[in-house]
Amino acid sequence: MATTGLTAKKSSFLQIQGWGFGPAATNYASRLNVDNNHLKLAKYSIGIGDRFAHQAKAQLQACVQALQNGVQVIPVWNKSNREHTIIGSEPLSVRRAADAAVRALHWEEPYFCDADHITLQTVDRFLESCDFYTIDVADSIGKPATAADMESFVRRHPELLGRVQLEGVDEHFEVTREHLTRTAEKFLVAVKKAGEVYRKIENAKGAGNFIPEISMDETDRPQSTMELLIILAAIADEGIPVQTIAPKFSGRFNKGVDYVGDVAQFEPELALDVSAITYAVRQYDLPENLKLSVHSGSDKFSIYPAIHATIKRFNAGVHLKTAGTTWLEELIGLAEAGGDGLARAKEIYSEAFAGRDELCRPYATVIDVEPAKLPPPDEVRGWSSEQYTSALRHVSGTAAYNSSFRQLLHVGFKVAARMGRRYLDLLELNEAVIAKNVTENLYDRHIGPVFLGRAGTVRNSTGRNA
Ligand SMILES: [Zn+2]
Repeated sequence: MATTGLTAKKSSFLQIQGWGFGPAATNYASRLNVDNNHLKLAKYSIGIGDRFAHQAKAQLQACVQALQNGVQVIPVWNKSNREHTIIGSEPLSVRRAADAAVRALHWEEPYFCDADHITLQTVDRFLESCDFYTIDVADSIGKPATAADMESFVRRHPELLGRVQLEGVDEHFEVTREHLTRTAEKFLVAVKKAGEVYRKIENAKGAGNFIPEISMDETDRPQSTMELLIILAAIADEGIPVQTIAPKFSGRFNKGVDYVGDVAQFEPELALDVSAITYAVRQYDLPENLKLSVHSGSDKFSIYPAIHATIKRFNAGVHLKTAGTTWLEELIGLAEAGGDGLARAKEIYSEAFAGRDELCRPYATVIDVEPAKLPPPDEVRGWSSEQYTSALRHVSGTAAYNSSFRQLLHVGFKVAARMGRRYLDLLELNEAVIAKNVTENLYDRHIGPVFLGRAGTVRNSTGRNA
């Protein structure tokens, strides 16, 4: 078996600690969540992200705080090919930053680097440095499967015909042959595509040396629970030991802002999806730690109580991707620092405003910027630190908070990327104030409500905890 990535690091760890085989080694292995030499993602995990590879420590600090409060939340540094391309960075930079943060904070729990939203065309440059792969097959959804493939799928899955009862929920489903065939027609090509990508990674890294996730979130229509169940059956047929799956949920999951949709409806839907996963794990022998992954999961404050209640009710896990929110905390930190930091934050806004059409285009399905609500750059130039941070900081319900301003800046990281050292030098100069914002945002507003079941800490307009 090839020992790459975490596997290699793990064995050197064991030597450093002076642990041989025996109970201590076993405990260590189970703490690292390694099963029969297979990497295994723990119950609770959080996708954290770092556009400019400067906040790894501040983000990890939020997981340290969770652990100090008795809850293990595993950090997964994720960065998509799209982000790397826009910024001009390489996947190895994410690995290096994560490794350095882990060493600096003496983090002894597992951690991973996620090749986020990769396809057959883009996976190659992630093969060396990543040990988590989010295989994106959204583009293949709806490409019609062949009649032969549909027929053999339906023949293989008589359990999905007629009455399907999931455990732990009152609802049941009545599935007709027609429904099953149509759903197979819509998703089989995408699942086969996922199989191709999975096998390419497996050939390069060896089975069990990476965590596979399958994402279907970047598409126009949410998947129903029954569709999710049928997709999972197809994934099992395809032989993919999937550990996390990211469906598209109903409602809008816009980047960096709160959930837009029916909050009361979200909880029962989530419960059905979780019970579909339990069913699929048992019926199709998928990995027992398989769980939902919530993409664009940062800042969805209104549904965090529902997520927490559901994982508790079903004793289920969840992976929450929050990558983009951290870059906005960098801007908040710079603005809070005043002086050159505030000036640079304003300059970034004014360039983002000028280039808004180009910046928003790649994210059209995941942002809702209302042009009329964007303050003119001239006005922003006159803002104090307090005005800038309270417009940007995500505290809904305050008069100053402006979700259009926030979303434009969310996709505006390209502007900072173009500034290069002019931006990075200021990050380094203002590390303390930025780190404080990054950690507080992740811990108080995300990890706390989702994993620990604590109400988010609301900050008043002076920036202090209320
Ligand atoms: Zn996604």
